[in-house]
Amino acid sequence: MNIDSIQNGVVIDHITAGQGMKLYKLMKLDNTDLSVAIIKNVVSRKMGKKDIIKIDADIPVDLDVIAYVDPGATVNIIRHGELVEKRQIELPKTLTDVIFCKNPRCITSTEQELRHIFRLTDRENKVYRCIYCETKAGG
Ligand code: ZN
Repeated sequence: MNIDSIQNGVVIDHITAGQGMKLYKLMKLDNTDLSVAIIKNVVSRKMGKKDIIKIDADIPVDLDVIAYVDPGATVNIIRHGELVEKRQIELPKTLTDVIFCKNPRCITSTEQELRHIFRLTDRENKVYRCIYCETKAGG
């Protein structure tokens, strides 16, 4: 894959340096056979250093996951080698099955069928809490 010339795909740019791998995992890109490149510690005039993820496939991306990991990231949709769309992202009010509750007494640890839902309780400090037990999401 030529990382500079994606024909149809998604480029997630301006990811805070160090967050690229976390985002890669939360987007479950490690479970796909798509052509994906993570470029770490790219020197950026604006940010110092940044990470970039390039997905060489026209797949729907979960903007909520991206915004959760890094609300400052930008999402560029590439078609036929050209930037056709820049998606706006903002912190989602709820996250479903993205992160999991760490409280061993939480109902989600015994009821396997329950969805793991977290609600944004403090936008300024980016705090999410489990809707069942109020445990704060870590990381
Ligand atoms: Zn919980």
